[in-house]
Amino acid sequence: MKVVGISDIGLVRKKNEDAFWIDEKQGFFLVCDGMGGHRGGEVASRMAVQTISQSMKNSASSDARERLIQAIETANQAILKAGLENEHLFEMGTTVTAVLVDGSRLLVANVGDSGVFLIRSNTIRKITRDHTLAEEMLSHGILKPEEMRGNAYNHILTRALGVDDQVEIDLFSEEILAGDILLMCSDGLTDMLIPDEILEIILAHSDDLETAANSLISKALEKGGFDNITIVLLSFN
Ligand code: CA
Repeated sequence: MKVVGISDIGLVRKKNEDAFWIDEKQGFFLVCDGMGGHRGGEVASRMAVQTISQSMKNSASSDARERLIQAIETANQAILKAGLENEHLFEMGTTVTAVLVDGSRLLVANVGDSGVFLIRSNTIRKITRDHTLAEEMLSHGILKPEEMRGNAYNHILTRALGVDDQVEIDLFSEEILAGDILLMCSDGLTDMLIPDEILEIILAHSDDLETAANSLISKALEKGGFDNITIVLLSFN
C-alpha cells in the first residue's frame, strides 16, 4: 500500500479549515473539513483528527466497525462540548471521512460532504453519499440530477460532527483488489473538478501518487480554488 496526503489553502480563503491524518501502520486515514466562525472551523477539524486517531489507537475493541463508530462518537462529543464552553468556538463543526484497512477489506465511515472515491479498472465510483440539503432534495425528487452541480444547497450540511448530541454515521465496506486507488477529499476538490476529470488525472499518474495529488490540486486551483483542497490518495497492489 502506498499513500500520500496534501492540503492546500486555495486561492480565496484566509485559513485552511481542512485537516487530514495518515497512519500507515494502522492503515487508518482521515479527511475533515471544518466550519464555524472565528477559529471554529480549524479547531473543529483538528480536534476531530486528534480525537479520532487517539481513540482508534487506544481502543480495546477488536471489532473494526465498533472502534470506528466509538472514535467518531467520542470526537462528536468533544467538539460539541468545546463549542458550548467557548463563545469563540460556538457552533463549530466538521465533516469526517475515515478509511480503515481491515485485512483485505476497506471500512469507510462518513459524516458530511467529504467524499471517498474508488478508482478501479479505469473507472471512478463514489463510495460515500454526501449529507447535504441538495442530496436530500435529490432523493425526494425536488432537485433533478442535472440541477445538482453548482447548486447552493450543496453547501448546506444535514449532518456534521459537533452539532448534536447524537451523530448518525454512514458505514461502507469494500473488498480491496490489486490495482485499486482510493481518493479521500474535501469538497474543495469536487466543487472544482467533476469525477471524470479526477479520473483522467489519476490514471495519467497512477504509478506516482504524489504527482497525481499535486496535479489534482493544480487543476482545482486553475479552476478558481474557491475553497481549501485536501486529498489523501491510497494505492493497493
Ligand atoms: Ca470545504
